[in-house]
Amino acid sequence: MIPYHSLQEASAALGRNLTFAETMWFTYSAQKSDYFLYCHNILFLFLIFSLVPLPIVFLEIRRILPFDNYKIQPKIRLSFNEMFKCYRDVMHMFFFVVGPLQLVSYPSIQMIGIKTGLPLPSLWEISAQLLVYFLIEDYTNYWIHRLLHNKWGYEKIHRVHHEYPAPIGYAAPYAHWAEILILGIPSFLGPAIVPGHMITFWLWIALRQIEAIDTHSGYDFPWNVTRFIPFYGGAEYHDYHHYVGGQSHSNFASVFTYCDYIYGTDKGYRYQKKQLRMLKEESTNGNKQNGGSFKTQNHKAE
Ligand SMILES: [Zn+2]
Ligand SMILES: [Zn+2]
Repeated sequence: MIPYHSLQEASAALGRNLTFAETMWFTYSAQKSDYFLYCHNILFLFLIFSLVPLPIVFLEIRRILPFDNYKIQPKIRLSFNEMFKCYRDVMHMFFFVVGPLQLVSYPSIQMIGIKTGLPLPSLWEISAQLLVYFLIEDYTNYWIHRLLHNKWGYEKIHRVHHEYPAPIGYAAPYAHWAEILILGIPSFLGPAIVPGHMITFWLWIALRQIEAIDTHSGYDFPWNVTRFIPFYGGAEYHDYHHYVGGQSHSNFASVFTYCDYIYGTDKGYRYQKKQLRMLKEESTNGNKQNGGSFKTQNHKAE
């Protein structure tokens, strides 16, 4: 709730004219409670979980070229019914765990001091905070995820998330309810340490989920903009973790690759990549010598 009654009053308090974004924010949020603004996350998460994975579902069913060439595990295909079941289970968890968790966690947001007023943070400030949130989440998630791969944690909790050895976007939030609660901690830590504006918080929750859907998409497109992010793991990186499954002691990190590199948990993945690269080079050389048309498949996890 913004403590000014009019745009003029807000402008006088700031000692300058409001920017276009600030005027929009004032118009939208002035009469709304902070709790109601916080609860927007429920709607955002519902829309993201429902809509963002849809293009890949379409590709998975229609197998349109050239997109289909970038399927990471082309031998595993899910039917529409299987994907719909995944979505239905995610929605079940959304309405019984994720949504209620958002509803009751507002006091923690109040406690850490998420702001809803004016002035709005600059784009630079928002970007810097989001980067910090991603780094903190990645590091904390790495260790919790690694811990969940011990015998008890895997069998009792994390096994559910690994039901999809070749993941699809809808499988990103597909997990045991306890895992959803536990992994809420890394997402919350960043904003708790570096509290920002509600808009930054919305963006953080949305981008983190979109990133998770991207890394579970099952497709590794060369034109994906995330390829330009230094140390970004991406779909192929996390796909390997799902492919190996319960025995996986590789690629635990959720966003970047450096934790696995530092702690030596990407050795299996790097070894496999090297082997595949060598195989590809050998077949390309043999192909040139034979003048044949054998095409090496770009399967990362077969
Ligand atoms: Zn795992
Ligand atoms: Zn996963």
